[in-house]
Amino acid sequence: MGGAPRGATESVEAVVIARQDHGEADRVVRWLCAERGRGAGIARGARRANSRFGAALEPTQHVRLLLRRRGGGLDVIEDAELLDPHTRTRDDLDRLALAAHATELIAGLAREEQPEPRLFGLLQTALLLIDASSAAPGDAMRLGLEAKALTFAGLLAPLDRCARCGEAAELGRAWAVHPHTGAAGHPGCVGSDGECTGAFALALEGARRRPLRETLDLPAPEGPHWVLCGVIEAHIGRALRARSMLAPTPIVQPTAAIR
Ligand SMILES: [Zn+2]
Repeated sequence: MGGAPRGATESVEAVVIARQDHGEADRVVRWLCAERGRGAGIARGARRANSRFGAALEPTQHVRLLLRRRGGGLDVIEDAELLDPHTRTRDDLDRLALAAHATELIAGLAREEQPEPRLFGLLQTALLLIDASSAAPGDAMRLGLEAKALTFAGLLAPLDRCARCGEAAELGRAWAVHPHTGAAGHPGCVGSDGECTGAFALALEGARRRPLRETLDLPAPEGPHWVLCGVIEAHIGRALRARSMLAPTPIVQPTAAIR
């Protein structure tokens, strides 16, 4: 995959990230796939009532796309097949909000036209777990997902070791995670207020290292639950929209200085 010449068709397994109306009846659709990271294409006639695309091109859907590559412009989506309908997610606002958040944050961290097998695999796993678990997963799973996504994007240093002095975090001792860089350590070392204890860092580090499925039953650790979300927002330079459906009030305010 990946090297299809201009004009050739290519079959790609993808997750739909977003869509927007285009022209009279078309849609521009954005997706994430393993082979080429983020991509975009046009789905002709997708807004017509009897469109052959049906509901396949909705955000968070796991699909197989038949693409016609066009050098320099948008690909053309010739066909789209729903691979997994995620029916429980469609019927449950809590699951849907978390699925939207997972899709948005992972897509935000993925690159365009670059292979992103780890981020794509993480998103696939997250969407499967959100749909298959007995109830909508809670904050421990979300934090584990955010930590893994940042790790796969190469953006998160260990949280349980001070970024400055190298000492390990201790359970009851004050600890800080910088809300924009994710640098962790003693408050005096990393120049941030002690907003949590070492227990939070150790719990997050544990969630990052274990399979996502094993975070489903973990209790949410005490601490700044949205700090990693803030690090992601700082990196991509904008607020994550689906987060407002998960948190009634934002806990970390993105600042104008974010870049
Ligand atoms: Zn230190």
